[in-house]
This record gives sequence, structure tokens and C-alpha cells, in this order.
Amino acid sequence: MKKNKRKYLKHLGLVFISTFLFPYKFLLSASQKIINPNLTEEQKKIMFKDGTERPFASPLNNEKRKGFFHCANCGAKLFASNSKFDSGTGWPSFSESLPGAFKTKIDYSFGMQRTEYHCAKCGAHHGHVFNDGPKSTGKRFCNNGLCLFFKPEK
Ligand SMILES: [Zn+2]
Repeated sequence: MKKNKRKYLKHLGLVFISTFLFPYKFLLSASQKIINPNLTEEQKKIMFKDGTERPFASPLNNEKRKGFFHCANCGAKLFASNSKFDSGTGWPSFSESLPGAFKTKIDYSFGMQRTEYHCAKCGAHHGHVFNDGPKSTGKRFCNNGLCLFFKPEK
């Protein structure tokens, strides 16, 4: 009887930990790695604590040149400029990523069910992908500008 009770309490403990602590990812998961030593606190907050920048804050919203968008942490090529479109949301938006650029995960925070995506190479959080994009793919990758840098095509 006593043993069962202990087992029950242990189970309750695990439920408590996974329910209340798991959404607050203060620690980097095993697949996440800070590679760029020059990341700012704001960039780290978005990329490794699932933060979001203010809308209309990123100069990349107005980037219209030909080229590629790369991960600000590891440099991986993530989006081609021809997939970028003006979603009006205030965040750089893309209809598709380059193949294999991201891994996705369901995010249940803020009482919503959204699909968040992470850089496949370094694990950094970049944004959420929605199914209300342009007709070509139907996808809208809503990306924090601070997680990206743009390299124009020469
Ligand atoms: Zn990366």
C-alpha cells in the first residue's frame, strides 16, 4: 500500500513537471546549439526561448532583392527570395522554405495550437507556419526577422 502511494506520488510529480514546467523552455534542448557568439540577447530570447519580435520591427520586411535568407545562428540557407511575400502581418513571410531547412513541432502555448519550426541544423526557433499562405503552396512561414540574415545574389 505504502509502495503504491509512493508510486502514485512519483507519477503525480512527473505529470506536474511535464504540465507546468515543460512549456517554459528555459534550458536549451539537446538539439539546440548557440553557434554564433555575436547573437544579441534579443536574438537568443527568440531563437532559444521561443520569443517573438515586435511586428513591423524588422528591416527584412522591406527586403525585395534577389538572394537567400540564412539562419542568424548557424548560417544555414533557409529561404529563397522568390518565396517571400508581403503578408501584411509585420513579420517576414515566405510561402515555402528550402528543402530540409526546418523541423516542425506543435506548439500549444497561449491556448492555441500552432506549428512552430526550428532550423534543422542548429535547432534555433524561427517562427510558426500557417495554412493561410498564397495559392502556390498554401503555406505562410511567419519568421522573426532577427533570426535571419539576407545575402543578395551577385
Ligand atoms: Zn540554424
